[in-house]
Amino acid sequence: MTTATELQTLLRSLDGRSYKAYKEIRGHYQFPQFGLHVDSVQGDPFAAPSRLRVVVPQSVAEFPAEYYATPSRAVALRDYLTREFAAAARSHSEQRGSGKSGLIAIAPTGQQILERSALWIDSQQVEARFVVGLPARGRSILGRQAAELLCEDLPDIVRRSLLYSALDAAAVQQQVQVVEDADWLRNQLAGRSLVAFIPNGAILPRQSGVDDAPLSDGALPFQSPPSLQVTFDRPHQGLISGLGIPVGVTLIVGGGYHGKSTLLRAIALGIYNHRPGDGREQVVTHPAAVKIRAEDGRAIASVNISPFINNLPQGRSTTHFSTPNASGSTSQAASIIEALEVGAQVLLVDEDTSATNFMIRDRRMQALIAKDREPITPFVDKVRQLYTDYGVSTVLVMGGSGDYFDVADTVIAMGDYAPQDVTAQARAIARQLATHRTAEGGSQFGDITPRIPHIPRQPSRRDPAEVRSPKLKVRDVDELVFGDETIDLSAVEQLVEVNQVRAIGAAIAYLQQQYGDRPWALSALLAQLQADLDAAGLDALTPYPQGDLAQFRPAELAAAINRLRTLVIRSLPDPKS
Ligand code: ADP
Ligand code: MG
Repeated sequence: MTTATELQTLLRSLDGRSYKAYKEIRGHYQFPQFGLHVDSVQGDPFAAPSRLRVVVPQSVAEFPAEYYATPSRAVALRDYLTREFAAAARSHSEQRGSGKSGLIAIAPTGQQILERSALWIDSQQVEARFVVGLPARGRSILGRQAAELLCEDLPDIVRRSLLYSALDAAAVQQQVQVVEDADWLRNQLAGRSLVAFIPNGAILPRQSGVDDAPLSDGALPFQSPPSLQVTFDRPHQGLISGLGIPVGVTLIVGGGYHGKSTLLRAIALGIYNHRPGDGREQVVTHPAAVKIRAEDGRAIASVNISPFINNLPQGRSTTHFSTPNASGSTSQAASIIEALEVGAQVLLVDEDTSATNFMIRDRRMQALIAKDREPITPFVDKVRQLYTDYGVSTVLVMGGSGDYFDVADTVIAMGDYAPQDVTAQARAIARQLATHRTAEGGSQFGDITPRIPHIPRQPSRRDPAEVRSPKLKVRDVDELVFGDETIDLSAVEQLVEVNQVRAIGAAIAYLQQQYGDRPWALSALLAQLQADLDAAGLDALTPYPQGDLAQFRPAELAAAINRLRTLVIRSLPDPKS
């Protein structure tokens, strides 16, 4: 067995040698309190940093077993330790030479608490996966600095972040309980016929469009109107009351700048748990709620958008609609059908990011443009059918058209950031001021047609008969480089972390390699992937353990696959035949 002292000697002996000599440190080292694994070593100081792991036995780490006894608690604890490791690493991370020399870091986190591959815990051990920029000046090794980084700084980081005795026990307990309560609340929604719950006192606004921390100055805490208030008795923190958004069709109305979109955004992110102190840590939403928006320019591969769109110019098919360049309305129609195809149970739609002609078509426009010259059946004629035919609820921000009063079960008005229940008034107005619209699009929603995707494998450059695993690159949550393609994810609004995007890239490559030749419907393919993930965790996705992946939903994976411009759909029978 190689000891920490031997690693120190080795690193010092490498001083001044060419960077490639760092490859010699790959392997396993036994430190007094933990094991260090050097899994991969970067080729130069500017390349992607080296990947390392520490493994601390529970005999040293001593975490109470109750804190990781259930999946919910374990995710909460793992997230907490990841943040502690990150903070301790930041205090030691400094420029020690060229390029990334001296960097030490774990996967980045935001306000959400997610399952990540960066940190694992069980009854035996705690494992943290992180990256290190091995120090060099130019291309020559700085051995002394490397020894300091790995043999002095790293043990300090481990002592400060991965041993229970070093942590704030009350904060650890709070994180575990807040998360377990949030998961519990989310599980209660269906039984109460709710799609979302926003507790009184929640802080929904954020610091800025680029800062997801809670607004610190002048945020008005959320307060439910009495008529829509519900109360739960949580396992840890006891009673909590707030707004329960019922199943069915819910409208959020109100003047501009009164907090409508902020509320919908909080609902959209209620599929995730949030850190204590976030302000949204007990805001919970149905786990299959999907935010939908218009996205002109996106590609669409053989989607049956006929529930919304028919009679396109030039006789184009709308049962197998494909385009490299969708319009606002066709993109929104396709995104809804694609979400339903993989199991969306709640749609979240904001007028700010919708195509107007997809949302409404008033009486005057119906009079001017005959139905046979307008391919679009607006959402207002479909949103109820979606609930009656498929049980799919919708929460819709709509300050600009009262035509939706006819189809809404619940109408919430935001005024000065405070919600009011205006359902009765909206109903009365709908009776007094009839729209005189003609309902369009028939009496049923229409078919949601499953598709069999084919993600073309990429032939190796050297030998076209060989398959190469696609290049994956992720810079931020908006973009995934997959092979020769760049997938634009900016309209997939419920992705919150780069680690999720990387995991989605790995998942597409995994599906391609494992099941690429199976003629399975997309939803079946996603179900198989979920089974594999349940069995082996995020590590199932990659050939060797990575520390930079995070959990994602089938909805977001499907959204990425659907935005692949090379996606091919195997031919299917026409839904009408
Ligand atoms: P709308 O969609 O109704 O036009 P927004 O949700 O975009 O309004 O909110 C407008 C502004 O008000 C945003 O800057 C937002 O951060 C802020 N805001 C929203 N809710 C609150 C609140 N509860 N307290 C303070 N500011 C808020
Ligand atoms: Mg808005």
